[in-house]
Amino acid sequence: MPVYEYLCHDCKKLTEVKTSFEEKEKGLTVKCEHCGSTNMKQYFGNMTVTANFPLH
Ligand SMILES: [Zn+2]
Repeated sequence: MPVYEYLCHDCKKLTEVKTSFEEKEKGLTVKCEHCGSTNMKQYFGNMTVTANFPLH
């Protein structure tokens, strides 16, 4: 089962989520394991993301 990393926008910590690709595609509500926030965004640690590199 793949592990996805999500970055919490409230406490800026990463939460690892183990879920199937299918579950993720259905829409996953990720909750921060540090502060309980659901203000999460998937974090791609192995990608270089800058302000000049829009995701869309
Ligand atoms: Zn948090």
